Amino acid sequence: MEEKDCIFCKIIRKEIPATHIYEDEHVIAFLDIKPNNLGHSLVVPKEHFPNIYTTPDEVLSRLIAATKKVAIAVKKGVAADGINITNNNEPDAGQLVFHTHIHVIPRYSTDGFRHWPAKTTFTQEQFKETAEKIREELGN
Ligand code: AMP
Ligand code: ZN
Repeated sequence: MEEKDCIFCKIIRKEIPATHIYEDEHVIAFLDIKPNNLGHSLVVPKEHFPNIYTTPDEVLSRLIAATKKVAIAVKKGVAADGINITNNNEPDAGQLVFHTHIHVIPRYSTDGFRHWPAKTTFTQEQFKETAEKIREELGN
């Protein structure tokens, strides 16, 4: 499955260039053109699925296994102090490319990035109601 106009499918088909770092039968990885830090990489299944919701479990299994390899290599390759692994789904969550992918972002004690601030105003009742709704969706 591939998409004609998808930028990552074009990279996978080698129709447009990328700074490739890893490839196996099912997965490819290359450097992000707008990195948060040097070595910021994208790990991408060769099959096109728009987001995590629609990506089959076996594709995700291979993707996360490749992500682990890439994360270890990026950490050593750029002497990072840590690694963030992120995945954005839907525009409001910051997704720009609608082909499932995982970001591997090297981090440094000195890079100045801060994690999103926690919201501290929720009540125990809200926690309980929210957990109930999610459990219901999960059939749990
Ligand atoms: P997301 O916001 O999770 O969809 O991330 C998409 C990422 O793809 C962004 O960080 C972009 O900088 C990156 N990107 C877009 N086009 C290319 C490209 N041609 N080569 C490498 N990275 C790209
Ligand atoms: Zn695609």
